[in-house]
Amino acid sequence: MANQKENVTPKGVLLVVSGPSGAGKGTICQMLRDRLPDLGYSISVTTRQPRNGEVDGVNYFFKTVPEVQDMIAKGELLEYAEVYGNYYGTPRKYVMDLLDKGQDVLLEIDIQGALQIKKRFPEGVFVFIVPPSLEELSARIYKRGTDSVDVIERRMASAAGELTYAAEYDYIIVNDIAEKAANKVLTIMEAERYRVARTYFIVDEICKGKA
Ligand code: 5GP
Repeated sequence: MANQKENVTPKGVLLVVSGPSGAGKGTICQMLRDRLPDLGYSISVTTRQPRNGEVDGVNYFFKTVPEVQDMIAKGELLEYAEVYGNYYGTPRKYVMDLLDKGQDVLLEIDIQGALQIKKRFPEGVFVFIVPPSLEELSARIYKRGTDSVDVIERRMASAAGELTYAAEYDYIIVNDIAEKAANKVLTIMEAERYRVARTYFIVDEICKGKA
């Protein structure tokens, strides 16, 4: 039976995790990486200053504004956004190479970036992490203690508005206990691997007598 899906190759799953700052997506993403050693993780470029303990090439590739603008002009970023006055972006080549090899890739990016990715990769898996309440969100941002009061206030001010973008995502995960939330994302990943769009080639192989 000839159909459009005949040439579908098993590509990796592009998992995009976002949510308001303080929702705990960083902790959840770290747990996912620990539990899924083959999960490719895209290290973003940013123009913000490194925080204490952050290492260039590990947490981010720290760049100057002209450097990032040059990458944008050359089309080297899959998406980019200005977040709290700094550029953040996802290097294109690294992500595309892994997906083409069939490896799953995790992007932990802000909402503007996630929406850009969704336009290009509607088959990606879009997970939105929310805090149990705004009070809890505020407590977490203060407790983290990595940002100035000015930045914290800006982050809190945008959080409520950001939550409404959850409607654009495929899944919403409430992060009450990080371990539990990470397990839910793992379950989602497990299910996504069996989507017809990713597995139809198996049917083709069965029909051709290869399986
Ligand atoms: P932070 O400064 O706290 O590390 O990150 C600030 C925000 O930028 C977070 O919401 C984080 O997910 C987001 N972010 C990190 N890397 C990227 C990226 O490559 N692209 C986009 N659009 N957002 C990013």
